[in-house]
Amino acid sequence: MNEPVLIIGAGIAGLALARALHHADVPYAIYERRTEAADAGLAINLPGNAITALHRLGLGDAIAGAGFPVLRREYRTQRGRLLFGIDETAFWGPDATPHCVRRADLHAMLRDGLPDENLHLDLGVTAVRQDETGVEVDLSDGSTARGALVVGADGVRSTVRRATFGEQGVRAAVLSAASYRFMAPNPGVDCWAAWIGDRGTYLLLPVSPDEVYGFASATGGGPAAPDLGWLAETFTGFPEPVGQTLKAVLADPSRLYHSPIEEIRIPRWTHGRAVLIGDAAHATAPVWAQGAALALEDAEVLAGLLVGGGDAAAAAARFEQVRRPRVTHVQTQTDRFSKTAGLPGWVRALTAPLAGPAGYRAAYGPLREWSTTS
Ligand SMILES: Cc1cc2nc3c(=O)[nH]c(=O)nc-3n(C[C@H](O)[C@H](O)[C@H](O)COP(=O)(O)OP(=O)(O)OC[C@H]3O[C@@H](n4cnc5c(N)ncnc54)[C@H](O)[C@@H]3O)c2cc1C
Repeated sequence: MNEPVLIIGAGIAGLALARALHHADVPYAIYERRTEAADAGLAINLPGNAITALHRLGLGDAIAGAGFPVLRREYRTQRGRLLFGIDETAFWGPDATPHCVRRADLHAMLRDGLPDENLHLDLGVTAVRQDETGVEVDLSDGSTARGALVVGADGVRSTVRRATFGEQGVRAAVLSAASYRFMAPNPGVDCWAAWIGDRGTYLLLPVSPDEVYGFASATGGGPAAPDLGWLAETFTGFPEPVGQTLKAVLADPSRLYHSPIEEIRIPRWTHGRAVLIGDAAHATAPVWAQGAALALEDAEVLAGLLVGGGDAAAAAARFEQVRRPRVTHVQTQTDRFSKTAGLPGWVRALTAPLAGPAGYRAAYGPLREWSTTS
């Protein structure tokens, strides 16, 4: 392949693809409309298959030294009663223990070693065209770039997706239409800990012994309204350590990020020389925290198919065949959990001790297996 792969978006998917292509000597260029990563101040939970994917990208040592290992999960009622717990290290194995890391640190490790001249920041893509010999993109400074393949790694509001497939497939998540996220002083949380109430779900994860990452959303559909009143009303009365972190963020609302949770469900990710990866193709509510893992895996599979310089359109089509079943599995499991979370509290409390661990195994079990060919 003489012409470069044009990667649109330098998020997790775009940087991972660039990294994999760089190491395989496949020419590429990334175009990113921002100057720094969105949500960089927040953290992200990386389950075991994301850790394994980072190992395959040569970042095993980097991830082992970043953030906080998540050894255990605890699901509780809104009164604090333990519904069930999961030993995550036993489930994933010691080399794939989940980690909670700052998003900025994840971006920095993916970007480390990529030549600056291939990374065009502050340069968004505004239009995409293709013909039999290649693709062309219009850029926000009025210039154009030409390549063998355009990869839409440009997130849930993807320009490449809109240009290629039109406005379709965007929907609000079933679990909650929006969420609050924040960082707060760590009140002593040492594992993944969630409190599930009838109106709201509150999750805390340590990113270090001193700092905790928090996520608060509605339970079982509906909005998490963009006002502090919703947070205070929904979670007042939840037990410690929820109370302490809630007090900290309500006292300093600049810590809070309110964002919609949107999903993409579309029947095609490829069209000729255009292909979508990561959230642009299949954004999914973070019920099983699979966004980064799927993005990293997408990048690895697509890069593997592009090595050797064959027909770029054929590689893109094959990519979709390989990746569909795994993504469909995550989407199905996301819907299943979201519906269960919407059941009345007493039903959840009754069924969770058995159904909870079984649901965890059903969602994550198949993701421990890895193949780049099926
Ligand atoms: C509330 C919430 C919590 C989440 N928690 C988790 C979690 O704990 N674990 C997890 O794994 N996942 C989580 N996710 C999902 C995860 O954030 C995404 O799946 C992941 O960021 C997807 O990466 P991406 O590279 O595909 O897209 P993005 O990270 O969105 O990156 C897309 C990039 O493309 C750029 N871009 C957009 N348009 C253009 C354009 N026209 N031209 C050039 N550049 C453009 C953007 O600026 C951006 O940098 C969460 C999502 C939400 C909403």
